[in-house]
Amino acid sequence: MKQMATTMSLSSLIIDDGNTAVLEPEAEALQMPGRLRDKFGRAITDLRVSVTDRCNYKCVYCRTGNEGAQYTELPIEDYLRMVRLFVSLGVEKVRLTGGEPLLRSGLVEMVRELATMRTAYLPDGTFVGETFAGETGRRGLPLDIALTTNGHLLEGLAQPLRDAGLSRVTVSMDAVDAETFAAITRVPRSFDKVMAGIRKAQAVGLGPVKVNCVLLRGFNDGQIEQFAEFSRREGVIVRFIEWMPLEEDRTWKRETVISMEEIVERLNAYRPLVELAPHAASETAKRFTFDDGLGEIGIIAPVSRPFCGHCSRVRLTSDGKMRTCLFSQSDHDLYGRMVRGGTDAELRAYIRRIVMQKEARHHIGEPDFEKPSRNMVHIGG
Ligand code: SAM
Repeated sequence: MKQMATTMSLSSLIIDDGNTAVLEPEAEALQMPGRLRDKFGRAITDLRVSVTDRCNYKCVYCRTGNEGAQYTELPIEDYLRMVRLFVSLGVEKVRLTGGEPLLRSGLVEMVRELATMRTAYLPDGTFVGETFAGETGRRGLPLDIALTTNGHLLEGLAQPLRDAGLSRVTVSMDAVDAETFAAITRVPRSFDKVMAGIRKAQAVGLGPVKVNCVLLRGFNDGQIEQFAEFSRREGVIVRFIEWMPLEEDRTWKRETVISMEEIVERLNAYRPLVELAPHAASETAKRFTFDDGLGEIGIIAPVSRPFCGHCSRVRLTSDGKMRTCLFSQSDHDLYGRMVRGGTDAELRAYIRRIVMQKEARHHIGEPDFEKPSRNMVHIGG
């Protein structure tokens, strides 16, 4: 059965109050089915799957350093069944994360299976349903399969992951010198391992690697210019991310966040920046290069410039719970329904219902901000 996806202009749903985009429920989106959309008409095309909440780093802005994993891990085939459901509803991009995903056995096999899946919708919006690699006839496109990792184990895994079908990798790296890096991760001699992982990923064709850096005032904000040099020297895309209140020990303060404005000012003083066009309206990073075209810097500013109006994401935690926002107050037990014998049709209906509850936006820094029910490491960043 062929079905045309509803076409809607998201911009018509966004009322700009001069500060934050406010979303209004969209009548059309409330009428199922079609591809997965929330009540504001935002299409959900991006699924982040945490495959463990164990991590071999104890980054100071993320973890207390005393607590370990808190949630269970599922068999890889169970994550795959849930991913298949999301793909059948319109998800096109799957990002594997954690915790630290490279700690998880079976990850390479998981990527190999993901690489056989095909999108259920063609770029023109035509519904083609569930298809796989190798099938003949009209079928969807390969998924965009991404991985977010701290890079510690990447040197040994980059080639197998690439061979299995991984599309690209993002490595988190919050300093470009060994001493600051070890102070942030609280793991000695970690910097060289991550550098080796980044270079290996570049060498096996997973480049350009994105290198994510969370800047904290008084900790690593002295390194902005060195990160720019690093991008130019190593051919990686450096992305600065504003620190969000998602850490285990509740130390977040707005004053510690280095805002997009400040980063742009510092980079411009280092060398004139040139803004790059966005790849897509939903892109979270503002992208820049320098006046000579060498290096690429992205700035992701969820605190100073929220992009919730364009959010296309849902998350699946390592224990199989759906989360509709990083800052959600609760999880939704998709896995529980699955193990109790839910059919694919029932589980799809459940996913649609939960996505309808997706929050309009987060409330970071506002008086009514409530801490989310899980911290970043236990959600999957
Ligand atoms: N272990 C993997 C890694 O290091 O990339 C994946 C999980 S980690 C939680 C994902 C990303 O979240 C990392 O880039 C990390 O820097 C970022 N992160 C963690 N806590 C954060 C916070 N409170 N605000 C912004 N980013 C955060």
